[in-house]
Amino acid sequence: MLDLAIIGGGPAGLSAGLYATRGGLKNVVMFEKGEPGGQITGSSEIENYPGQKNPGESGMDFMSTWAPQCMKFGLKHEMVNIIRVSQNADKTFKIVFDGGKEESAKSVIIATGSTPRRAGFKGEDEFFGRGVSTCATCDGFFYKNKEVAVLGGGDTAIEEAIYLANICSKVYIIHRREGFRAAPTTLEKARKNEKIEFITSATIKEAYGDKMGLNGLILNTKDGERDLKVPGIFTFVGLNVNNEILKQENGEFLCKMTNEGQVDVNLKMQTNIPGLFAAGDIRKDAPKQVVVAAGDGAVAALSALSYVESLN
Ligand code: FAD
Ligand code: NAP
Repeated sequence: MLDLAIIGGGPAGLSAGLYATRGGLKNVVMFEKGEPGGQITGSSEIENYPGQKNPGESGMDFMSTWAPQCMKFGLKHEMVNIIRVSQNADKTFKIVFDGGKEESAKSVIIATGSTPRRAGFKGEDEFFGRGVSTCATCDGFFYKNKEVAVLGGGDTAIEEAIYLANICSKVYIIHRREGFRAAPTTLEKARKNEKIEFITSATIKEAYGDKMGLNGLILNTKDGERDLKVPGIFTFVGLNVNNEILKQENGEFLCKMTNEGQVDVNLKMQTNIPGLFAAGDIRKDAPKQVVVAAGDGAVAALSALSYVESLN
């Protein structure tokens, strides 16, 4: 029986692991389906985490020290996809692995974060991985000295467009409105970049190509249809929270959720089920920032420590 199971190894899960193990919990396992680090490892740069030695470093470099620090204090990492968390009759938790294996824990922190949303235009799925991408750091280099498009008007789209402009000959930012969600300073930087062209009040009607991959996009713009001959489109249209593991066999969620599918927690990151906590992008009203996810993880771990102690 684990004292604490942490599901997800992004900033929230890793921070929870650090605080739980340093706080004295002995049997703590972080279940992460990939390498620890979370979604920020797909980002070309991060510069807004307080105290960073190298602002502007890649998300991968930034996160590289987090897991080793946690392991030093006794956090164990198991690389596995968790498919469900439910509650046993004795109020402990059952963690179900992909493949059927099960583990029990006295307390659980859900830190499964979020994943990029699909935009929904024709051809998006057909050319996904063959011209359509959600990761500029991973795929940008394939388009060295070529023209590419970026879809979206949030922080991710604008930041990644600036990154792509360092590699590609031209970057078109396609956005469905005139106004942008992205931070004004980031937007300003993009507007000053000569390699970036904004196409606003525009949507993608269709992505077209052949067996080799994407050849272009047909856009609906305020001036009519436009054929954008690009071999690559990077879509950054927001995130879906990864809440599937809380769905029970009867289709209901294990704990109280918001209408948007986020976990409803209080300021101690407690859900309405004693012993079950949530931290980071998955929780209600998350500002979706690394510093907040890390803070949440610490709070959730401290709450889990008190909970486990209260059982003795
Ligand atoms: P995540 O980082 O999403 O981590 C969740 C982890 O859980 C993942 O590693 C995932 O593999 C794992 N997981 C999910 N489901 C399961 C399962 N069923 N079983 C096992 N493991 C599972 N924030 C900033 O503060 N500054 C920035 O500059 C910044 N830039 C960004 C750039 C990009 C391109 C993106 C996508 C995000 C950026 N963010 C930035 C936001 C930031 O990355 C997130 O807010 C933060 O990573 C959330 O941390 P988390 O631990 O809650 O979730
Ligand atoms: P986001 O803020 O939700 O922005 C998504 C963008 O995609 C919006 O401009 C939206 O348009 C557009 N969009 C949504 N669905 C679309 C569709 N089907 N077709 C075309 N366009 C569509 O997502 P994000 O940029 O990934 O950011 C997610 C969170 O992470 C935010 O809270 C953000 O602040 C944070 N983040 C922070 C940083 C940083 O701090 N430096 C960096 C990256 C991300 P509308 O505006 O019209 O809705």
